[in-house]
Amino acid sequence: ARAQIGVTGLAVMGRNLARNFARNGFTVAVHNRSYARTESLVAEHGDEGDFVPSETIEDFVASLERPRKVVIMVKAGGPTDAVIDELLPFLDEGDIVVDAGNAHFPDTIRREKALAAKGLHFVGTGVSGGEEGALLGPSIMPGGTKESYASLGPILEKISAHVDGVPCCTHVGPDGAGHFVKMVHNGIEYADMQLIAEAYDLLRVGLGASAAEIGDIFEEWNTGDLESFLIEITADVLKHTDAATGKAFVDVVLDQAQQKGTGRWTVQNGLDLGVPITGIAEATFARGLSGSVPQREAAQGLPAHTAGWEVKDRESFVEDVRQALYASKIVAYSQGLDQIAAASAEYGWDIDRGATARIWRGGCIIRARFLNRITEAYERDANLPLLLADEFFASAIDQGLASWRRIVAGAAQAGIPAPAFSSSLSYYDAVRAPRLPAALIQAQRDFFGAHTYRRTDRDGVFHTEWSGDRTEAEA
Ligand code: NDP
Repeated sequence: ARAQIGVTGLAVMGRNLARNFARNGFTVAVHNRSYARTESLVAEHGDEGDFVPSETIEDFVASLERPRKVVIMVKAGGPTDAVIDELLPFLDEGDIVVDAGNAHFPDTIRREKALAAKGLHFVGTGVSGGEEGALLGPSIMPGGTKESYASLGPILEKISAHVDGVPCCTHVGPDGAGHFVKMVHNGIEYADMQLIAEAYDLLRVGLGASAAEIGDIFEEWNTGDLESFLIEITADVLKHTDAATGKAFVDVVLDQAQQKGTGRWTVQNGLDLGVPITGIAEATFARGLSGSVPQREAAQGLPAHTAGWEVKDRESFVEDVRQALYASKIVAYSQGLDQIAAASAEYGWDIDRGATARIWRGGCIIRARFLNRITEAYERDANLPLLLADEFFASAIDQGLASWRRIVAGAAQAGIPAPAFSSSLSYYDAVRAPRLPAALIQAQRDFFGAHTYRRTDRDGVFHTEWSGDRTEAEA
């Protein structure tokens, strides 16, 4: 036994992760259900480092130094359980099983419990950055015990992305915490992409500009506060011309967005925890709407009653859209981090939000300059109740607020859908409101269902006899 770490599941992600370990000087045991993938990895990349290939799972486990560290990188769901079951007979107490696939966090909690009962460590790990990240340095979000992180952590930190010399990998928290944080990362990614898409649409309609011209605007934006991977690739995509037609590539792509499910999981969990993650929810529903073909067809030709958007000052319009995008983005991240805080309390995870933002600075899809500001905000106050109330973000929104309002109002006037922009602004106005019409909701609930209410002026829980003499009694 001489391998320091093993990877089973050598499709695009596992293959690149194994190469990343090898390139960083680790001896890597490699295994895949069908041996052909293992052979081709060693044939094509064997010179990149020290690989120990095995055809059977038994030989694979035997090739690992103890305590063994096995990374499973297979299709999420049933296949992960199948691979765990195959591994179990050959593992010994203290071994560490890492699931680096996109598992749903309740599955991770279940698996961790089952393996802990056998004296094994189970580490559910979020890995973001796609194929290229896996090879060159992803953002890694491991859960599991502190004890397992002590020996596994340094290996993962070494192969992760680094920003300013700091690894984009930290121990997120126990059992499902790592996969949870990866899930919210993906939810935020949905919101970020939707906001960028809305900005693009507003610019396209408002300016009547070509996709490539808007690509230039995004390229310019990528030199400022919005600097991020997603803005950068947006510029690139918008400037790309379709070879077959000579048209802008974005104009030949069918406008129906698909999803693999992490956005949906994030929204479902937001509902479970009662956390208003409206940016992520709007983004997920916007994808759903885009794919609602019969409904969209039935709605063609419905009246718009709008004269469109006549942009008088091009430069200030572009700046308004930029500010609206930035402010809405702050709201989406603030909401996602709220969800992490709520889950951390609910499931007993003790997640450090500043550290979470820090490991998202590189390697992953939402990597952005902006994440440094988030880490700094939690350094100022680790228990910050609301990110957008932090001095830096409050002042950023203050600067952009007039623009944001002009854009949301203008979009409504012009009939341009901007669900994430407008719901983010509504969230901002609601969360800062000294008093909300929720008071009326409580009164209605008491009226029809005797659900009781609390008063602003006295402690206690009350009910009014609505159908009788309307006296109030303490419930
Ligand atoms: P896939 O999700 O396409 O899964 C293919 C791999 O799973 C193959 O190695 C396949 O083995 C193996 N497999 C499937 N069923 C079983 C089974 N019952 N028993 C044993 N092995 C099985 O591979 P990816 O590389 O795309 O993704 C791997 C994981 O990483 C997934 O969980 C994915 O969600 C996650 N992920 C993917 C990202 C991406 O950008 N693609 C980004 C981040 C995470 P065989 O070769 O024998 O068929």
